[in-house]
Amino acid sequence: MLIVQKYGGTSVGTKERIMAVAQRAVNTKREGNSVVLVVSAMAGETDRLIRMATEMHDAPPERELDMLLSSGERVSAALTAMAIEALGQRAVSLTGRQVGIITDSMHTKAKIEHVKAERVQLALKAGMIAVIAGFQGVTGDYSDVTTLGRGGSDLTAVAVAAALKADLCEIYTDVDGVYTADPNVVKNARKLDRICYDEMLELASLGAKVLQSRSVEFASKYEVPLVVRSSFSTEQGTLVTKEDTDMENVLVSGIACDKNQVKLTALGVPDKPGIAAIIFKAVADKGIVVDMIIQNVSADGRFADISFTVPKTDSRSALEITKSVADSLGARTVIMKDDIAKISIVGVGMRTHSGSAAKMFQTLSDNNINILMIGTSEIKISCVIEGKYSELAQRELHEAFELGKTA
Ligand code: ADP
Ligand code: ASP
Ligand code: MG
Repeated sequence: MLIVQKYGGTSVGTKERIMAVAQRAVNTKREGNSVVLVVSAMAGETDRLIRMATEMHDAPPERELDMLLSSGERVSAALTAMAIEALGQRAVSLTGRQVGIITDSMHTKAKIEHVKAERVQLALKAGMIAVIAGFQGVTGDYSDVTTLGRGGSDLTAVAVAAALKADLCEIYTDVDGVYTADPNVVKNARKLDRICYDEMLELASLGAKVLQSRSVEFASKYEVPLVVRSSFSTEQGTLVTKEDTDMENVLVSGIACDKNQVKLTALGVPDKPGIAAIIFKAVADKGIVVDMIIQNVSADGRFADISFTVPKTDSRSALEITKSVADSLGARTVIMKDDIAKISIVGVGMRTHSGSAAKMFQTLSDNNINILMIGTSEIKISCVIEGKYSELAQRELHEAFELGKTA
C-alpha cells in the first residue's frame, strides 16, 4: 500500500515525539508499504513566528510572513528525516517547492492548483521515506513561497495523497478521532467510527479544527480515503468517507463552535433598494468573507440595522471599510462586537427530519442564552451567541441531542 501519514504540531512537538513519529513511519514501511510523511511545525512554533512578525511590523507584508512561517515546517521535516535515518531507514525531507506544490499567489491563504510530486515518486522508487514540510507551496513561476492557511498541513497531506493516488491518508493528531463535539470542551463527547465528507466539511468549516476545512473539500472531491487518529496511541481512528444510508438515520452527528468571528452592525441605514449591495460589495472587494447576515427594519420602515460577521483576522479592515461606506450612505454609526461565538449543530439527517431548530433554540433559551443571529442550511443550524456562553451551549446541546457516550 501507499500510505500518506500527516503529523500535526503536538505530534512533532518535542525530540521524543519526533522519534516516536519516525518509529511509526519506519514500522509502516517495514510492513511492506510505501510511506510519505507530511509534518507540521513543532507545537506553538507558527504562533511564535507570527508574534515575532507582529513585533517587527503592525501588519507584516504577507509575502514575508509566508517566507517566515514556512520555515517552521522545514525544521520539523528535516529533523524527522534525520530521526528516520537514525533508525536505519533512508529518508529525504522536501519543502513544498521541492515537491512541486503549485499554488496561486494569495499569500497566507494560497490555493493549491497542482501537485507535481515527481521527487516524491523518485524517493519512493528508491525505497526511501519522503518527509514533506506541510502548509506550504510555491507560485507557478517558482518565484514565491506561499502558505495554505492555518491548519494547512492537512491540505498538503490530502493533496499529496490525491496526486499519488495513495491507498490511505492518515491524519495523526492529539485526539484519537473525530468526536461528536470538541472532546477538550465536552467531556462525554463520543468518538465517531465514520463520518461522511459533507458532515465533516460542515463541522470543519464551522470551527472543529481537527481537520482544516479545505482539506476535507479536497478529500471529498478526489475521494481520498481519510482517517483521523492519534499519534499517541494505536486506537482505531475515524474514517471520513462517502455518505451511506446508515448516516441519514442519525439526526445530528456533531456540534461545532467558532470563536474566531466578530459581528459588525451598521445602525440606522436608510432602508432603500441597493443599500445592502453597496455595503457587501465594498467588503467583498477587500477580499473579506462575510458569513452570517441579519437585517432589521425600523417600525416605520425608513431605517434598517444591518449586522454581519467576518473573521476576526479581518476585523480591522472590515470595520474601516464598513464605517466609510456607512458614512457615505448617511447611516447613524457602525459598532463591532468581538466576544461572540457561533454554535452549530450538523447532521445529514436534518435533510429529512424536522424539529432540530426548535430543539436547539429551546435548549439555548432554557439556559438563558440569547440568540444574536441564526443561519441554516440543509444539514446545519448555526446560532451566534455571547462568547462567554460558548462552552455551556456546547455541553447543553450535546446533552439535548443525546450525542454522548451510551455506556
Ligand atoms: P494538529 O496540530 O494535530 O493539526 P489541531 O489542534 O489542529 O491538531 O486539531 C486537533 C484538536 O481539534 C483537538 O485537540 C480538539 O481540541 C479539536 N477539536 C475540535 N473539534 C473536534 C472534534 N469534533 N473532534 C475531535 N477534535 C476536535
Ligand atoms: N503550522 C501551521 C499552523 O499552525 C500548519 C499546520 O499546523 O497544519 O497553522
Ligand atoms: Mg491542525
